[in-house]
Amino acid sequence: MLSQEINLKAEEKAKLESGEMLPIMEHFYTIQGEGANSGQAAYFIRVGGCDVGCHWCDVKESWDASKHPLVPVKDLEIFLKDIPAKDVVITGGEPTHYNLKYLCDFLHEKGFRTFIETSGADTLTGNWNWICLSPKKTSPPVSTIYPLADELKVIVFNQHDLQWAEEHAAKVGNKCKLYLQPEWSKNEEIMPLLVDYVMKNPKWNISLQTHKYMHIP
Ligand code: SF4
Repeated sequence: MLSQEINLKAEEKAKLESGEMLPIMEHFYTIQGEGANSGQAAYFIRVGGCDVGCHWCDVKESWDASKHPLVPVKDLEIFLKDIPAKDVVITGGEPTHYNLKYLCDFLHEKGFRTFIETSGADTLTGNWNWICLSPKKTSPPVSTIYPLADELKVIVFNQHDLQWAEEHAAKVGNKCKLYLQPEWSKNEEIMPLLVDYVMKNPKWNISLQTHKYMHIP
């Protein structure tokens, strides 16, 4: 759970802890831009609140959970009912700060597949169809998430991050897909390094933030 204090009534606090309510920053239908499922239509739900503190974070407005409305998970049904795609991606913020079992059960009951993008900062709850683990140096993943990860996506800001990426690749299971993704602001500088590295180490793939090229969220 987040270290930030959220000023809540007792009933809201109980529902936040059970996962029946979550601070939702935004939710929208789009195309997954990154990683193994890049190019697939999906509904994104961005949970507010993050204690991880990456200096290059491009959603810093998500960090303070108290700035985002606490929404009953069931209220999302009205937005999801006409969505033709069946994939829902939970992102943040850092979703593992919250109990996500209720959300996963709700989405499965409605016939959706559950995808998560997480740094793995806290123990993962819920039943997931796809887990994208994107470890961050400021708050490394809990050990229990490595064998669960379907995809490891390491954001590369400098050359040292490649060694760091290998340390995490050594911890995930054999079926986990491995991705290196240039940090957006250093894209031009980092890309030649990644191209060279992946050609020499073909277990890795390159992930691009293709949604930014498509000018979609
Ligand atoms: Fe931003 Fe994600 Fe890092 Fe949190 S974990 S600071 S939301 S990039």
